[in-house]
Amino acid sequence: MEENSAPKRRQLSLSAVARFLLLGVVAYTLIAAAFSFVFLKRIETQANFTRDVQIPLILTQTRNAVKIERLSSLVRSIFLAKDRRLERQIQLQIQALAQGFSFDHHGFLVERSQKVADEAKTIAKLRQQARDKESSTQPSPSANSIDARVVDELDRLATQAYERAIHDLDAMGTQLSGDAAVVADNIASEIQNSASYMQVGWLLILVVPGLFAVTILIAAKHHLAAPIGAAIKNLERIGRNEPVLTLERLPLISELAMIDAAIVAYGQVSDDLHRTNSILQGLAEKDPLTGLANRRTFESYLAAVLTRPAISSPGVAIMMIDIDHFKSVNDTFGHLAGDRSLVAVANVLTSVPWQANHLAARYGGEEFVVVLEECSLEQAIERAEWLRRSVQELNIETGTGQPFLRLTASVGVAVSNSVSDQPSDIIARADRALYTAKKSGRNNVQVASLDIGISKAG
Ligand code: GH3
Ligand code: MG
Ligand code: MG
Repeated sequence: MEENSAPKRRQLSLSAVARFLLLGVVAYTLIAAAFSFVFLKRIETQANFTRDVQIPLILTQTRNAVKIERLSSLVRSIFLAKDRRLERQIQLQIQALAQGFSFDHHGFLVERSQKVADEAKTIAKLRQQARDKESSTQPSPSANSIDARVVDELDRLATQAYERAIHDLDAMGTQLSGDAAVVADNIASEIQNSASYMQVGWLLILVVPGLFAVTILIAAKHHLAAPIGAAIKNLERIGRNEPVLTLERLPLISELAMIDAAIVAYGQVSDDLHRTNSILQGLAEKDPLTGLANRRTFESYLAAVLTRPAISSPGVAIMMIDIDHFKSVNDTFGHLAGDRSLVAVANVLTSVPWQANHLAARYGGEEFVVVLEECSLEQAIERAEWLRRSVQELNIETGTGQPFLRLTASVGVAVSNSVSDQPSDIIARADRALYTAKKSGRNNVQVASLDIGISKAG
């Protein structure tokens, strides 16, 4: 029996492991829920900010862009206009549009649009002055040429005012597209950030349970399935009367370690029981001096052989062997020499040269019996003769310093080839044949025929 001497190790109870796992799952769920909440809140805040601030800002920018476009075409119109009334109307529209930028929180558009309105006003004023100059008739050609130069100069100034206004409008456009780009960029980067958060967050939320499950599976394989499998193997070994195997390492789970220890202890008890049983069985079935089967074993064996359905010719034969004048062996050489003689005869019975099924037993005292299955009468006589001769040839130590002692034996043979034959019948016939052998001078073989007749064979 092997000792369960697996090295000690720190152990965990299954309930502690279950509690730990439950705690892990709850903690994970809470963390995942908290993360989801924070993350969704962040997305909601961003969505609100985009809706309340960024989209209105983009709309304002769009409106401003339209206004700049309109302003630009009005400036062009005032620059190209030919009469005072039209210029006046355009100038009023420009003024109204310029005031429309007053909600621009940068202040840049308001300031520039005001400058554009001022330039428009300048253009209108210069145009008017030029028209006044052109309409006034001068007496001399030299005066006319001076006026023409003044008109040209006024035109040039108007053109410069127009260019400045266009320049301001360009600057407004650039500013506006810059602002729009910033807002669009902000929205894009917010969306990108949210996407990144979502990617990382959901990756963690999905990967962590996956890793957790894989870890649990690996741990379960090593710390649950393997010890349970080993315990089952040991139970199977106990079932097959094989010694239990010691685990290389004690299971980590204390309950399994206890089960393992219980199985090992059970295996030891079972092993002890089997050993005790086999000793008891030996004591119950065997003769302690010679090691041969005892009389009870012989009788049950014979009964079993005789009730086998295949009993036919050749049938079952038995030989009753009795040592001649054994009492005098004891009396002359002592009981120990007598015992040695009994053992020597038993050895002859167990070292027979034939292969057929047979059982040799000590029937009692100095009497032995041999059962031969599938044995004809002729074979039985032949084998009985072999036994008789073998006993006669034995040289047994006397233990007294004297030469070897010699033995002879008488043998009674009986055969049965009928299912109606009872063990007692065949034993009685063999016994009578033995009695006849004794009466016939000993050291001979006698055969009991089926009609209980006796015939001498040796
Ligand atoms: P016979 O030729 O008629 O068989 O004469 P016998 O002396 O062999 O027969 P008897 O029945 O008179 O004597 C049998 C003797 O066997 C008596 C007994 O002391 C002896 N004996 C029986 N069992 C044992 C044993 O276990 N050991 C020893 N040493 N002797 C035994
Ligand atoms: Mg006897
Ligand atoms: Mg005898």
